[in-house]
Amino acid sequence: MGKTLIIGAGGVSSVVVHKCCQNPEVFEEICLASRTIGKCDAIKKQLAGSRTKIQTVQLDADNIQSVIQLINSFRPDIVINVALPYQDLSIMDACLATGVNYLDTANYEPPDIPKFEYKWQWAYREKFRNAGITALLGSGFDPGVTGVFCAYAQKHYFDEIHSIDIVDANAGDHGYPFATNFNPEINIREVTANGRYYENGDWIKTGPLELKRIYNLPEIGPRNVYLLYHEELESLAIHIKGIQKIRFWMTFSDNYLNHLKVLQNVGMTSIKPILYENQEIVPLQFLKAILPDPASLGPRTKGKTNIGCIFQGIKDGRPRTYYVYNVSDHEKCYAEVGSQAISYTTGVPAMIGAMMMLEGIWKKPGVFNVEEFDPDPFMAALTRYGLPWKEDFAPTLID
Ligand code: NDP
Repeated sequence: MGKTLIIGAGGVSSVVVHKCCQNPEVFEEICLASRTIGKCDAIKKQLAGSRTKIQTVQLDADNIQSVIQLINSFRPDIVINVALPYQDLSIMDACLATGVNYLDTANYEPPDIPKFEYKWQWAYREKFRNAGITALLGSGFDPGVTGVFCAYAQKHYFDEIHSIDIVDANAGDHGYPFATNFNPEINIREVTANGRYYENGDWIKTGPLELKRIYNLPEIGPRNVYLLYHEELESLAIHIKGIQKIRFWMTFSDNYLNHLKVLQNVGMTSIKPILYENQEIVPLQFLKAILPDPASLGPRTKGKTNIGCIFQGIKDGRPRTYYVYNVSDHEKCYAEVGSQAISYTTGVPAMIGAMMMLEGIWKKPGVFNVEEFDPDPFMAALTRYGLPWKEDFAPTLID
């Protein structure tokens, strides 16, 4: 059906390529391009014999002209951006210049200051509309599936949704004293930032990890979760009509938090450059270089993830609670595609989003978040492609 340019060759990209190759009718041809071509070639090698044709290319996606040149020579129908959030705008610019559809899994981030805001990408709405092409933002798990879950709840279960609690729990153990499950720089920027949630038209600020709850979650049991700001809150607060409160919670083990505290106290999580032996280095980037590569955690990680949304609202004049979630098993993900569940739960929805666009099911000119499309075909595809979801009443809140 189509040609797909995939940019980035890290943990998430590897899953995207594997899942595209499971679906060769839609993904006939892939060009996998990234900064380090060796990583592209390693992924291609794992998929030798696949019906999807794969070629690899070295690309610096910060350079718009290089991305334009590659698009002009490969002529893809869609670009899947699974590089880093810093590359979002240069890749969107290249898509605009060449008239090609765009998809990513994380909002644009200016390198010097963590923001987690959609404003830069939403500013492209008119340009994409005028060019007649689609940009689908945040088609990972969170953001991504969580937005689809919200649209699904709104469509099928509620007349009004009053509150949403997104709960992202990882009960996996990789055996290292400290490692992050996805890009350490992005992960640590997210966790060390102030918390924030939406309530009655205002954004309420909290200190980093100040609010804690304990949920008893299906298949993984009682877990400490902490309130974080997460980018999908911004779009869901706008797109879920009548929403009064929306919060995001994530699990962290005591061990992870202790290490993080020490690293923060000694300045290793700072993104301000320092001079070291006459060379400028960013402490957080140096930390990333010495931490285990998230892509290497796959074979070591055991246990499960549980990510879902808890809704409260009104249906037919009566209060209703609804919970929809996915449980993924790290070892099963590894057995299937050679990656742990964090990369898996991000890569599968990226492939599905691209499939929705290539098949013309999710297609309208402009820049959109996932919750702005019909959730039903995406929900069906989740079950078909390895992320089955379950429904229930809310999980027990222990504390
Ligand atoms: P990795 O760090 O493992 O991979 C990033 C890849 O992008 C690397 O191959 C890297 O190249 C490449 N890259 C970086 N800069 C450039 C550049 N200038 N030009 C070309 N390629 C570049 O990250 P992950 O795979 O863990 O994450 C990928 C994306 O997914 C991130 O944006 C992350 O925020 C997002 N994400 C989204 C989630 C969701 O649920 N929505 C969850 C988890 C992640 P090199 O190999 O040379 O370093």
